[in-house]
Amino acid sequence: MKILVTNDDGFYARGLWLLARELSKVGDVVIVAPDREQSAVASSMTLHHPLRVRKVRSALEGVPSYSVEGTPSDCVILALGRILTEKVDLVFSGINEGANLGDDVLLSGTVGAALQGYFKGIPSVAISVGAIKDIHFEVAAKLAGVLARKIGDIPREVLLNVNLPNLPLDKIKGIEVTKLGRRSFGDKVVEGNDGKREYYWIVRGEPQWQPSEGTDVKAFIEDKISITPLYTDLTSASALAKLKKLPRELLDNLK
Ligand code: MN
Repeated sequence: MKILVTNDDGFYARGLWLLARELSKVGDVVIVAPDREQSAVASSMTLHHPLRVRKVRSALEGVPSYSVEGTPSDCVILALGRILTEKVDLVFSGINEGANLGDDVLLSGTVGAALQGYFKGIPSVAISVGAIKDIHFEVAAKLAGVLARKIGDIPREVLLNVNLPNLPLDKIKGIEVTKLGRRSFGDKVVEGNDGKREYYWIVRGEPQWQPSEGTDVKAFIEDKISITPLYTDLTSASALAKLKKLPRELLDNLK
């Protein structure tokens, strides 16, 4: 089994290497990751300048590794389109430092990279641990290995977004398959002056949680591992019904 491993925390992030190490027990792993941190770039891709790829001496024997001057999505596109000549069976993105819950999935570079695998019809998994320091990567890495072995049982029409609480295995209260909840950040704009000019800095505020039943947010705050099957239809079925009359009204007002 050929496994592509990437992330959005950058080539030198610990979570990337722990993930690759565990997955290399399951299949042939190749790392293609951004050369620097690219958190919150979502699925953005680079179209307006060339991308350089560097083959880097790998910290893991038998795991070729490449660092890319681009986004997580760029990494997956380059890996699948050029760097890897064989068929890729699985794309793993992570292990991210920080949870990607609820509305985060639309901003997350970790999920963005997995989306590129999903777009190509390859089973893809984004995996994150909900902490930014003193991170327990070990359960996430182990779970990634277990999931990789079971990937044939996962429906092909989804990508998996996995979030773990930052706890050792004996403190984790279970694993739940969830739907996306609502978690948004009240982003703030901080203004300053660098001595020459004004600048603005976007700062992430405290997360606002809506821990409704059955959601990733609720599982996470209850110290459970959350696995959310994602697909990319963002259409609201309920609004579709409510907006039935809108085209007629708009048309009438255009006259
Ligand atoms: Mn990140």
